[in-house]
Amino acid sequence: MEQTFIMIKPDGVQRGLIGDIICRFEKKGFYLKAMKFMNVEKSFAQKHYADLSALPFFPKLVDYIISGPVVAMVWEGKDVVLTGRRIIGATRPWEAAPGTIRGDYAVEVSRNVIHGSDSVENGQKEIALWFPGGLAEWKSNLHPWIYEN
Ligand code: UDP
Ligand code: MG
Repeated sequence: MEQTFIMIKPDGVQRGLIGDIICRFEKKGFYLKAMKFMNVEKSFAQKHYADLSALPFFPKLVDYIISGPVVAMVWEGKDVVLTGRRIIGATRPWEAAPGTIRGDYAVEVSRNVIHGSDSVENGQKEIALWFPGGLAEWKSNLHPWIYEN
């Protein structure tokens, strides 16, 4: 099954949204495979967002990510990368549909609460960066009630 890297950004942590966000992924039927609560070093944030390093907002983005602790997670499930992005909502919160995390909780693109991998390949890269020690092996006993196989 597919995996994605999800990070609750410092504003999401400060605003008390951790439980709500985890709840949305959990109740959907995805499996939590790894999670840690941590402060991120500047060089690590720069590495995570390396693809965006040429963009004008990059320095501010890095400062935002290191401004407080984050919750880093890996979630697993059928089509979890794309579905995760749909649960999160559009990058710019004013374009994010109500019912999505950013649509419900964010106003500014620079304070948009959460990160989610944008492709399976980038997901695997991000998971390797954030969780080099590997993931938990498990399957819920409810699996057959959520998945056909
Ligand atoms: N970002 C920003 N200004 C912009 C575009 C993006 O501050 O004009 C920030 C925003 O926090 C976004 C992150 O940079 O979530 C990464 O941008 P990306 O285009 O990858 O959006 P995402 O994949 O997070 O939806
Ligand atoms: Mg992105």
